[in-house]
Amino acid sequence: MSAGRRFAAVFFDLDGTLVSERIGVREARTAVGQRLIELGLWTKPATAFADSIEMVIGGILEDNDWQWPLWLHSEEWMRRTLTVTELSVSDDEFRELCAVYRDERSDRAEAIAGWADALAAARRHGQIGLITNFNDGLMQREKIRGAGLDGQFDGIYISGEIGIWKPEPGIFEHAATDLGVPPSECVHIGNSIVSDVEGALAAGMQAVLVEEDDRPRPDGLDDRVVWCADLTSVSLWLRG
Ligand SMILES: [Mg+2]
Repeated sequence: MSAGRRFAAVFFDLDGTLVSERIGVREARTAVGQRLIELGLWTKPATAFADSIEMVIGGILEDNDWQWPLWLHSEEWMRRTLTVTELSVSDDEFRELCAVYRDERSDRAEAIAGWADALAAARRHGQIGLITNFNDGLMQREKIRGAGLDGQFDGIYISGEIGIWKPEPGIFEHAATDLGVPPSECVHIGNSIVSDVEGALAAGMQAVLVEEDDRPRPDGLDDRVVWCADLTSVSLWLRG
């Protein structure tokens, strides 16, 4: 590598790192309520169904130390919310509700401020990869498209497609091997201490923790980890 290029490849997480985990989520959940109203299955406001989804997910997060469990994909919380709200739908209707959520969520996906400069700064080093934990690969690819990030990556690695989930080092190793670079010459940038930071370190990559929300550096964060308040700080660090 030439001077100033510290990494052969720079990997990014998607949700909460490059694409907002807040923008469009409430609207996509409300769209599911709206579809239920159109199907004649829901008589309250569409937003009340979004409230129910949030209650179900909130309860699960509370039971899991506020970490998003790997098994909690959209079909799972959809099924649980329908149970809690005592709605019974056919298999076709269930698939349709999941599709409404996927389409609305991906259409409304928005890249987080500073993304373009962060990717430009990453490109100065070498290749750029995306490593994302999600069971629904189609949804992630639609989200990437919806957020305008199409064509930015040399490799896209989705857990549900590969069968290995962050923080297992295997998915980081798989990604590095696919790009033909050693993990020790890579950095992974993500917003989860467990999935992104611990996983990348276990795989022998440099780890960067970046925040979507305005939070201070977490207490007890491993000294090896670079902490960035936002993507602008990531760009500065990559150019440093
Ligand atoms: Mg994330």
